[in-house]
Amino acid sequence: MIVDLNVADYSYDKLIADAKALAIKYDSIIKYVTIGKSHDNRDIILLRLGSGQKHIICCGGVHARETINPVVLLRIVEYYAELYINYKQQKRDLLLKLYGTDQHLKEEYELMLYGACIYELLQTYTILIVPLLNPDGYMIALKGFEAIRDAELRKRCEGMNVPSTEWKFNARGIDINRNFPCELWRSKFEGDHPASENETKTLIRLFHEHKSRGFLDFHSRGKSIYYYRSQMPESYNKKQLVLASRLQKVTNYKLEEPEDEVETGDSGGNTVHYYSEHFWKPALTIETVEDEAEFPMDIKYRLPTFEELRFLIFEFGSMVV
Ligand SMILES: [Zn+2]
Repeated sequence: MIVDLNVADYSYDKLIADAKALAIKYDSIIKYVTIGKSHDNRDIILLRLGSGQKHIICCGGVHARETINPVVLLRIVEYYAELYINYKQQKRDLLLKLYGTDQHLKEEYELMLYGACIYELLQTYTILIVPLLNPDGYMIALKGFEAIRDAELRKRCEGMNVPSTEWKFNARGIDINRNFPCELWRSKFEGDHPASENETKTLIRLFHEHKSRGFLDFHSRGKSIYYYRSQMPESYNKKQLVLASRLQKVTNYKLEEPEDEVETGDSGGNTVHYYSEHFWKPALTIETVEDEAEFPMDIKYRLPTFEELRFLIFEFGSMVV
């Protein structure tokens, strides 16, 4: 196994090293691509998983302090790739075992069926995964402001008087999830304008470079799913609700109420707003990790989140054909 959910210190460098190792080990099914640069000059990377013509896009690590999803998404890439590669071998082994007795047969058979489904999915789809859109913020949340190498940026961040473990922003102190151009975007300070940030531009570019079928953005604020878009027609929202309800069944996450799409007084400008309004395709915000979780987030949340998301991403892929 390359991605170890038990590693306490999962830094940006570790994430990059693991992502590269995955692309080498599973070179027939995973491609590693650098799609942009953060303001403190870190690579924003994409893993392309699958060989299909249809695309879905998954993104994590938009909010710095929500540190669980980037490593979990990477582990899911590995898990799907393993199942894909192992499927044929497992099938052969299992046929042999059918002639003997094995108490684990049922479990293995179920895993094989799941593997077969993943195999089919990745032949039809390519899942484009950006595990960490905001690498600078992620490093602030994990290591403190010393992680920012550019002295001017570091000073600006420190001047905001927000504890590093609570940091949501990028290295310029901007909330990327309020920076996407859309109907509900509002100016929050003088000189504020949408798509001002490298991270925002990188994801927008990725959206437009691939004709995709759907988009999932992973956050960590209380095991729920945001599906409703007040700026989109009823027909769009009906479809969103059908998808969200299926994903709810898989994960037991709750569905957020339509009126909670944007909090009173807050600006829109989320990744999903942009995607919905520009492509009219399904786009959901998935909030992992229980509501009470404190920052810095305990690594004990990684494994249950992995268990939930490995089914959720598969389910979403199979629904947006
Ligand atoms: Zn978030």
